[in-house]
Amino acid sequence: MILYSLSCSKEHGFEAWFRNSDAFDKQAKKGVVSCPVCGDTKVRKAIMAPRIAKGAGKKSEQAVPVPAPAQPTAAPASHVLAPQMREMLQEMRKQVEANCDYVGNEFAEEARKIHYGETKERGIYGEASDADAEALQEEGIEVGRVPWLPRTN
Ligand SMILES: [Zn+2]
Repeated sequence: MILYSLSCSKEHGFEAWFRNSDAFDKQAKKGVVSCPVCGDTKVRKAIMAPRIAKGAGKKSEQAVPVPAPAQPTAAPASHVLAPQMREMLQEMRKQVEANCDYVGNEFAEEARKIHYGETKERGIYGEASDADAEALQEEGIEVGRVPWLPRTN
């Protein structure tokens, strides 16, 4: 079924359903389509494009792109990531504590000993100043620096 916007010769606009565009042409020619306002049978299709009734089988109504609703402003990434980041760091701390020896302030010294084979190779962790860490890196000693979060419990 097609809904046509029609108008008579006196410009009364109205709408009427037709099985298809042929049906409209035939019925209009036969004079069976009349204006509901004045009864004029000289009706013609108005400029409006025909609308197709829903459930007619054919999907011919053109999809009109609907602008997406404005997205709520995304929260700053840091807010989103913070809890995960925290968790990750907590986990890292757990791993380090489980697998490495704590050497406290002796970190730089201990790291050098390990690097030069003066003591058995093992993972260590402890505190080191920026200068210490830089010096170690210059000597080719791998130093990972992580923000050390306090324990949660
Ligand atoms: Zn009319």
